[in-house]
Amino acid sequence: MCPEIDKSEEDWKAALSADRYHVLREKGTEPAWTGALLDVHDPGLFRCAGCGAELFRTDDKFDSGSGWPSFTRAVAQGVVEEHEDRSFGMRRTEIICAYCGGHLGHVFPDGPAPTGLRYCVNSLSLDFEPADSADA
Ligand SMILES: [Zn+2]
Repeated sequence: MCPEIDKSEEDWKAALSADRYHVLREKGTEPAWTGALLDVHDPGLFRCAGCGAELFRTDDKFDSGSGWPSFTRAVAQGVVEEHEDRSFGMRRTEIICAYCGGHLGHVFPDGPAPTGLRYCVNSLSLDFEPADSADA
């Protein structure tokens, strides 16, 4: 496990691009169908764009039709934390990176097997690392 990351908002602002800062630290949402990682199907890992923690794998990615990268589960229990989100008059479950607290997206109970869950994640919250590069 990585240590928990405790950066000031100023540190985050300096470390992240403006659009990533907005999503990760201000709980923003990228417009549907705009994410760079939406159509990634190559084997590999999706890391937190804030701290580099391994969060998701292509093996668990599926085309949800929502316009955001979607996964049936995280790489391991505990890497993604869930919080109730009552913003915008809805009751949703927000997901955040357990290491840096960065906002990832939401999880919904309408996903496919094997979990029945749909982790709906902003591309801006993630960095994709193709499996090939891990061997290099
Ligand atoms: Zn993180």
